[in-house]
Amino acid sequence: MLFIETRGNDGQHSASVPFSEAILSPMASFGGLYSPQTLPELTTDFLQAHVNSSYKQLAFSILSAFDVDINDEVLNEALALYDHFDDTSNPVPVVRVNDELYVSELYHGVTRAFKDMALQPFGVVLSSLAQQRNEQYLILAATSGDTGPAALETFKNRENVRVVCLYPDGGTSDVQRLQMVTEDADNLKVIGIKGSFDDAQNALKQLLSSTAFKHKLQQKNISLSAANSVNFGRIIFQIIYHIHSYLELVRQQVISLGDKIYLNVPCGNFGNALGGYYAWKAGLPVEKIIVASNSNNVLTDLISSGSYDLTQRDLIATTSPAMDILISSNVERILFDMFGAERTHELMQSLIEHKRYQLNEDELSTLQQHFVADFCDDESGKKYIKKAFDDGYLMDPHTATCFKAHDSCRDKPLKSIIYSTAEWTKFSPVIDNALTGHVDSHDIDALKSIAETANIKIPEVIQALFDKPVSQKTVVDKQNIEAEILAFLDQ
Ligand SMILES: *Cc1c(COP(=O)(O)O)cnc(C)c1O
Repeated sequence: MLFIETRGNDGQHSASVPFSEAILSPMASFGGLYSPQTLPELTTDFLQAHVNSSYKQLAFSILSAFDVDINDEVLNEALALYDHFDDTSNPVPVVRVNDELYVSELYHGVTRAFKDMALQPFGVVLSSLAQQRNEQYLILAATSGDTGPAALETFKNRENVRVVCLYPDGGTSDVQRLQMVTEDADNLKVIGIKGSFDDAQNALKQLLSSTAFKHKLQQKNISLSAANSVNFGRIIFQIIYHIHSYLELVRQQVISLGDKIYLNVPCGNFGNALGGYYAWKAGLPVEKIIVASNSNNVLTDLISSGSYDLTQRDLIATTSPAMDILISSNVERILFDMFGAERTHELMQSLIEHKRYQLNEDELSTLQQHFVADFCDDESGKKYIKKAFDDGYLMDPHTATCFKAHDSCRDKPLKSIIYSTAEWTKFSPVIDNALTGHVDSHDIDALKSIAETANIKIPEVIQALFDKPVSQKTVVDKQNIEAEILAFLDQ
């Protein structure tokens, strides 16, 4: 399979690249992204043949259908990491909430959030490519909470890749911070920034665009790659679980093969929803993708009015911080798939220059044939958490946004799958507040309170964090980040 560029080709980049290239050097011409030139066809026969496959068998078949240029041994090693999820035979349980509503739980991996679904196998693939080419890579990540731990965990002690992770000191939950600062491996560096997530992200952007910094890396023979969700190496692993979740409903005899369903996704950078869209285009029977947002509801506006408008918006800090995003990067791949490179370039240029773009009526209608959207603010999110708990289902605030969209976005009585992206343990103070009314608890107290209220155990990996030694102690001012990174690379 070959990848082409969402904003067209500038004559400097190759016009098309294989999978390996697209993931090692993910930045395409004019600041665009690599997207698949064609999608494989996953026919009814294909789906039928996989009704009784394991997750890994299904994943392997899908990757083969995509014809990725990664050898089978490496793919098998990457997929074997799903054996370390809670249920070794099924990494993604699909749980019934009621007759119409099922939850696909994507958080049963090591860091208890859905970033593991893609980052776990991605780490093996990237490191193997780097070793085959005998090249050294540096991955820089700025995190508000979930990507950092998942990236550190996947690259820990892997050859030819080093990771530097920047987080806002005081700006993450206790659990998220501990997941990062207790990571101890020679190829990992975690740096707390005195400032907000925006400060951390801006510092990173400056560094990534600095020729002086790149020059210093070159002198050390180190190339930059990226592990953020625009990397197609992550997206490809996010197509698989949509197909798996559908087949789970077939296995549970909730639907028959061929029945259409709703996919209901809590969205930030739109990687998860994009995976669902590609699965649908490849042949999965889908009625619509329901796009759930929090109060940062740019996507709700885009899908209902065709207007993507940041001119009147500031980022709002919500209780679902992994969805606090105003520039939802992977939407670009949808625009490209629907309207082509020339139009995508035009729209993205408008977003850069005028902080807004407007789809025309035909374009909006095409978008609405595939997507429907709603958003959920923090107060109603808490009500949904409490209501679901009273009905027997415990969920986190990101997942809660989908419960509201489930009530408001369907116009047919079809089954729905909500994608749950984080375990209750990662956002415990908000959940504790919704369930018991406790305010401003520390994570450790909120965890205990929820465990008692719900009569469940705190998972060992979370409990253990509070006793682990802190090995990553660096906290610096923004202007010292570069020096810290270079010192780390010289070790
Ligand atoms: C990353 C994340 C999201 C958003 O997913 P996208 O693929 O970026 O849309 C939602 N919930 C949680 C808990 C996350 O970590």
